Amino acid sequence: MELKEKVSKKIHSSKGLLEEVALKIGNNPEMGFNEYIACNTLIQVLDNAGFKVESGLANLQTAFRADLGKKRPRATFICEYDALPNLGHACGHNLIATASLGAALGIAPFLKELAGSISVLGTPAEETGGGKVILVNDGVFNDMDLALMFHPAGQNLLMCSTNALDAYEFIFIGKTAHAATAPEEGINALDSVIQLFNGINALKGRLNKEVSVQGIISEGGDAPNIVPGRASARFYLRAPSRVQLDKVVDDVIKIAKGSALMTGTRLRINQFEYSNENFVPNKTLSLAFGANLQRLGVEDIQEFEVDKGSTDMGNISKIVPSIHPYLSIGQGLTAHTKEFAEASLSEEGLKTAILAAEAMAHTVVDMFTNPNLYKAVKSEHESHD
Ligand SMILES: [Zn+2]
Repeated sequence: MELKEKVSKKIHSSKGLLEEVALKIGNNPEMGFNEYIACNTLIQVLDNAGFKVESGLANLQTAFRADLGKKRPRATFICEYDALPNLGHACGHNLIATASLGAALGIAPFLKELAGSISVLGTPAEETGGGKVILVNDGVFNDMDLALMFHPAGQNLLMCSTNALDAYEFIFIGKTAHAATAPEEGINALDSVIQLFNGINALKGRLNKEVSVQGIISEGGDAPNIVPGRASARFYLRAPSRVQLDKVVDDVIKIAKGSALMTGTRLRINQFEYSNENFVPNKTLSLAFGANLQRLGVEDIQEFEVDKGSTDMGNISKIVPSIHPYLSIGQGLTAHTKEFAEASLSEEGLKTAILAAEAMAHTVVDMFTNPNLYKAVKSEHESHD
């Protein structure tokens, strides 16, 4: 029997266990940095399978790595497992965790025959907390060479680029006063926020359409009879590359400074979330994954699409060759909906997670048995800017 067949057989023999894990995480949705049930469930299975587990990675209680083997290259299967408020697993992260676990279990018995080792990395808080950014910054990827995950979707899509994202907060400090009897004694901080929005609206007219600046007023005063002494706004700024994003950030900061100057307020600027880098799929690795998918019987696969969103997987893709393909758990579904949450617990969702596990495991077999292909993956990565 060919090695890939043996790996698939092993994954299918773990099907009951994998489905149990998918449903346990899926039926116990936990928010970012609080994914204790998910983490413990995955750790227990990996521990039983002989992986060396380190929990509490980078001082995050719900981050872990589980290693098998010491050889390099080391291929890492990425787990996500956070849910969404009120919607449960409406992004299907329970299936991401299950697929990565399945891929690792599939390869584990055959690792001795292969030129490499594997890890499973538990990454918390993808939706808002940027767990992967913290892990990257902590140096977790220093001894890792490849990163693989799949994401559930309403279609099959091999490669997708995402936007780099910075999250900026602008706080304007003015002076409170009675709005009716002594407005001249106040300095209206809300006016600064309004000028900021006006300035950004003008800027939008000359931004190219790949760039997006979206904001809300997060503080706008306390009562109509008090001149607002403090007001603030929060923005997500996105662009297809770091260079383009830095330029937009620069423009927006100038506008904020101008708004403070016009209205006589003081300005404080901070970044209220971790920045995401744009995701760069490794094409060579993605195509190897695609070929394995086809061998597993999947025919309708779109090759490339631009995604206007952002993910902390982008930060990993800057460090090691990475893939983040999408596989359908229900044709036409969109993430972050009630229907998607249902699909992440469905028969089709579970089947897709198993398929993803096989295709990822087969791709790692390719990397560990075909040195030239691995070399091509590496040199493509090194050619990225
Ligand atoms: Zn997601």
